Amino acid sequence: MKIRMNENYRLLEKNYLFSEVARRLARFREAHPEAKIIHLGIGDVTLPLPEVVTRAMAAAVEEMASQETFRGYAPEAGYDFLLEAIQRHYQRFGVELALGEIFSCDGAKSDVANLTELFGQNLVCIPDPVYPVYVDSNRMLGREIAFMPATEDNDYLPGPAELEDAVGHTVEGVIIYLCSPNNPTGAVYDRAQLEEWVKFARATGSLIIFDSAYESFIAGDYPHSIFEVEGAKECAIEVASLSKSAGFTGTRCSWTVVPAGLEAGGMNLNEMWSRRQTTKFNGVPYVVQRGAEAALSPEGEAECEALVAYYRENAQIMGAVFEERGVAYTGGANSPYLWVSCPNGMGSWEFFDRLLEDVHLVGTPGAGFGSCGEGHLRLTSFGSHEATAEACERLRRYLP
Ligand code: PLP
Repeated sequence: MKIRMNENYRLLEKNYLFSEVARRLARFREAHPEAKIIHLGIGDVTLPLPEVVTRAMAAAVEEMASQETFRGYAPEAGYDFLLEAIQRHYQRFGVELALGEIFSCDGAKSDVANLTELFGQNLVCIPDPVYPVYVDSNRMLGREIAFMPATEDNDYLPGPAELEDAVGHTVEGVIIYLCSPNNPTGAVYDRAQLEEWVKFARATGSLIIFDSAYESFIAGDYPHSIFEVEGAKECAIEVASLSKSAGFTGTRCSWTVVPAGLEAGGMNLNEMWSRRQTTKFNGVPYVVQRGAEAALSPEGEAECEALVAYYRENAQIMGAVFEERGVAYTGGANSPYLWVSCPNGMGSWEFFDRLLEDVHLVGTPGAGFGSCGEGHLRLTSFGSHEATAEACERLRRYLP
């Protein structure tokens, strides 16, 4: 063919992380077919959907079977019943949103990646390490990226100072990605830190894209939404998801909040996002929206809290082993992820190999989430109690 291609795709690294994990795992399985391997690597949930959700979805399926109650295309941003449920969810954190500020979608991944379309060639500032979609979706559009190191020195929570260091010149009009609680480090920003970010964004005419996909794992006194911070509606967009809180990884429902008053260059971001979504997205399926509404009901929230509590218990028992054995780690308390410092100066992949070969345990090498992730390994609490307990026993025997 003679068409021109998006050359930016050449800048993407090969999807190395999970495929390399899978390759090493397959090789090990082949050599040791008898080994009972425990997989605590992938960030997917394992518990089934809350009952209140499946009941609501089953009722919605019945509605679809009858001429009188059948529904076709959904409103692109979502039915009012879902948007109102999301609105009430935010009221629990003291945040008031207008229905027109909420856009439901089929997953935070799509929104976080698609939001890039609204902006021109700004400098994009991304924590390192972090969920790789921020980097890749910006690379696909040829955006310049500055990385903000998240290391032990800043408790894995880079602030405006790290951004200024990374940029190295006067900051103006940049796009800042924040993920709190963070994937993979599990670190969570407190109110004062988010206030500092909001103040910085407003002072520099910058935009924060706040990913709260793990908000339901927050146990301590930390903001669940950037909009709990005064002034955030003038400088932030938030992406949230039911994937981890309600087990929707395979069911797909999320939302993005774009405040009505957000403007840059005489253009309104809420109107632009609405235009983008109505052009390129035809809405979350009705059945799923009914399930999401149920997940956000008081009964649903109680069931979701029980799911999170189950995973949290896993995080606690894993954390206890590392504490006992003097292996440094962070996360786990407000997140499903434990960010373990590889012992004895091992690199991420070396520790991965040791755990696979000697403990038959699979984690995710931290280096795959950014260069500052080197020397770390991510373990998830999304396994069963039994598998996690067994993994802990093995770790206890293995770690001196
Ligand atoms: N944001 C973060 C930080 C994530 O870790 C993930 C998934 O692992 C997502 C967004 C995507 O979630 P969803 O399943 O809603 O697309």
